[in-house]
Amino acid sequence: MKCIVCHGEDIQIGTVKEGLNIENDLVYVCVRIPVCRTCGERYYDRQTMRFLEEVNQTLREKKHKNLKEIGKIFEYGSEIQQHESEGLHQGIMAGI
Ligand SMILES: [Zn+2]
Repeated sequence: MKCIVCHGEDIQIGTVKEGLNIENDLVYVCVRIPVCRTCGERYYDRQTMRFLEEVNQTLREKKHKNLKEIGKIFEYGSEIQQHESEGLHQGIMAGI
């Protein structure tokens, strides 16, 4: 298998954190997929795409379990949008 981006051949299965935006929150979902070691391109198979869609749906319906908070997301210098944002969001992470 060759990388379609850089044509490198060093593609290995690895665990990556896929970020899902749920309203103001960001949830990292760990998935094992082939990743190009040269340029970092990620290759999602159909099963992984479906899994991520399911997790996304579960999170939007607030039926998630086992979320671990690993940090916070801040916003700086956005006074103009102050009415839309509180400036402080929660960062959470889902493991499989
Ligand atoms: Zn590549």
